Amino acid sequence: MKIGNKLTIQIVVALILGIIIGSILSPMYDSQQWVQWVDQYIFNILGQLFLNMIFMMVVPIVFISIVLGVVSVGDPKLLGGYGLKTLLFYLATTAIAITIAMVVANILDPGEGQSALLGSDEVAEYRETELEGGSTGEALQQGFDQTVINLIPTNVVEAMGTQNMLQIIAFAIFIGIAIIAKKDKTAGLVKLFEEANEVVMWIVLAIMKYFAAIGAFGLVATAFVQAGFGAIQQLGMYFICVLLALFIHMFLVYGAAVKFLAKKSFIWFIKGFAPAMGVAFSTSSSSAVLPISLKSAQENLKIRKSISSFVQPLGATINMDGTAIMQGVATVFIAQLSGIDLTIMQMVTVVLIATIASIGTAGVPGVGLVMLAMVLTAIGLDPAAIGIIIGIDRLLDMTRTMVNVTGDAAISLIINEQENRKEGKTGQET
Ligand code: ASP
Repeated sequence: MKIGNKLTIQIVVALILGIIIGSILSPMYDSQQWVQWVDQYIFNILGQLFLNMIFMMVVPIVFISIVLGVVSVGDPKLLGGYGLKTLLFYLATTAIAITIAMVVANILDPGEGQSALLGSDEVAEYRETELEGGSTGEALQQGFDQTVINLIPTNVVEAMGTQNMLQIIAFAIFIGIAIIAKKDKTAGLVKLFEEANEVVMWIVLAIMKYFAAIGAFGLVATAFVQAGFGAIQQLGMYFICVLLALFIHMFLVYGAAVKFLAKKSFIWFIKGFAPAMGVAFSTSSSSAVLPISLKSAQENLKIRKSISSFVQPLGATINMDGTAIMQGVATVFIAQLSGIDLTIMQMVTVVLIATIASIGTAGVPGVGLVMLAMVLTAIGLDPAAIGIIIGIDRLLDMTRTMVNVTGDAAISLIINEQENRKEGKTGQET
């Protein structure tokens, strides 16, 4: 079974249908009960079933593929070599992403003349529900030291139970290295992991083949029904700035990186990775899309398993360029609403904090907003202002998640091609 063009087309059609139907029903959402009923019992059930099915596969896939990735590299030192390179690429692209976002926002001034928004009910509500005792408040209190300490799990089962990706990755790397260290005695275990990999990948493909289109439709339709275009209109300039910066980053930065560093055609890259991009758009979750990202990268982009299964799961957890872009634009937007001109120093702080904050944050829907609270607090802005943009965040989350996972795949491709060249391989046809 392969992820082919037919599936890509099905997903794209489903996404478009979801957007159209969701948008048509959206104005009736508050007044017509049947619309709420359709949303709750049709769109939502279809979407959540799909989401649960792929989330069900995330922990087994991350664990198995990282163990196999480490084992197939054979020499942990080699892994260290491109591990460091991967981290540097991730950090650099994220810093570039926020910079683009801040430039776009400073040119287009999305917050100009909108200061009344700061007094809205949404801001008060956000302060009450999220900042005082809610998850954002908790996240704000977790310091950098705790984030580092938490990289290593004290309880592996709990790490898996709570889907803590970084902890699962850390444990899988330990197991992989131990298997290599005891190579004479672990051939059976390697075979077991390989067979388990076949099984989980088969399930992923079956889910994709039979359920992706319908599930993506449900997720997108429910997001559009609930968000509504009224909110987009009010925050139109903010919305446009985020989309524009995402677009620039995707096509200029990744386009150039794929062309000049991987020496591959960008169109070929996008075509091969399109199924994963479609699922990222519908699920708004880098973690959920991981099984499909790996499959698209390995099969369509011909990235070696050993590289893709290390670089992409790591990226899904720590590399979030799209999220960083939203944060850059949102910070400038909120500063403008508050009548504050950010100094160069504050802007540099935003770039640094947002880059660091993206590490250790799970790739699940809406998490970017929690991270935004940290960025705002760091430069003395009121995090409750997040309440203003929360209403349309899901729609932006879809697009930025797509950029997030595309960034991981682009870096994975670059590392793969550079390794190929190092070993004198001619690389695959583009
Ligand atoms: N949903 C994003 C992701 O999973 C994170 C975020 O920006 O909220 O990559």
